[in-house]
Amino acid sequence: GHVAWFHEYWTLRHAAGRPPLIDRCDRLWDSSNVAHATRWHLDLPDRAGTFRYMADVLMRQEDTLGSGAGDEARYFYDLSIRHEDMHVEALTYMRQTLEYAPPPRLGSADRPRAGALPGDAVVPGGRWRLGSTADEGFIFDNEKWAHETMLAPFRIARAPVTNAEFAAFVDAGGYRTREFWSDAGWTWREQRGAELPVYWQGKHDGVWTHRRYRIVEELPPHEPVLFVSWFEAEAFCCWAKRRLPTEAEWEAAAVGQPAADGTRLADMRRPWPWGDEPPTAAQANLDFAFDGPVDVAALPGGDSAFGCRQMIGNVWEWTASDFLPFAGFVADPYKDYSQPWFGSRKVLRGGCWATSARIARPGYRNFFTPDRTDVFAGFRTCAI
Ligand code: FE
Repeated sequence: GHVAWFHEYWTLRHAAGRPPLIDRCDRLWDSSNVAHATRWHLDLPDRAGTFRYMADVLMRQEDTLGSGAGDEARYFYDLSIRHEDMHVEALTYMRQTLEYAPPPRLGSADRPRAGALPGDAVVPGGRWRLGSTADEGFIFDNEKWAHETMLAPFRIARAPVTNAEFAAFVDAGGYRTREFWSDAGWTWREQRGAELPVYWQGKHDGVWTHRRYRIVEELPPHEPVLFVSWFEAEAFCCWAKRRLPTEAEWEAAAVGQPAADGTRLADMRRPWPWGDEPPTAAQANLDFAFDGPVDVAALPGGDSAFGCRQMIGNVWEWTASDFLPFAGFVADPYKDYSQPWFGSRKVLRGGCWATSARIARPGYRNFFTPDRTDVFAGFRTCAI
């Protein structure tokens, strides 16, 4: 209902000046104004009524678009479609949180078992243009605008941290060793009583297991570690004598290229890590291409110029960067998208297997509070 309301609010009411289809709709579904605690007690339409409302909104959108959409109206369709994409992903991780059945099979069940991909890519330093430009199509307000930063040379893992690598941290007593954790991280760990990643369920006959939706399975050793908080990523890095990349470093490793002499970053960037073409399932695990995450060595066709794999898709990657506005930030019409969250969140990049390709552009900045363990988040590390 909320997704349909968002479509209606922006495309039909805001952009086309139509009256609301349901009188009380803002009281039910306006997430900016309906507090979470009250959402359990609303007089929501039943399932059939909700579907009717959704169909009604879609039909009216099609009627409106039949007479053509100007650029300004188009913006709100682009926004509403992406908002729906985000909720599709959120519904998917909610099924994991609530121990529901797996989602219906949408992609290939044959997830590539390609193994591990150890080692670092070497990225030269230089000028890096962080942020997006007006010619990139639909962008969110927090990407505006492109601005120059300077990067020192760095080394970044070719792949995200795997379950097997994270298990070594657990086995080394990582969750019980105070010195690996920041003050905020240790407070989080103690409050949660965290001894393992949230869905890990201990070892059976020496093999780690985890809960996937409502099924307990062996933990796939070479898939990226998932459902770890930023604090757990930070503690792992401390133990491994590594660090998280900044968002600018992550982006340079993903879509940067070496200048001709190899000593610095070139001015040109690639639209995608592998080149100009939009993603396919040979390059990026997006849009439910597979039935979940794949091993970190899979999809070599998606390698960046520096040899980093799966920068786009498979697993969101925590970065070291706080979610902050770029200089000159001005909120777009959906004012609550970014502005309320600056300063309290960490930036994640790259998208995951349940993210749409529309969202998971290299410049897209996702953001969550550092305590979250319910989202499809992992991380990759840099050498110190
Ligand atoms: Fe929403």
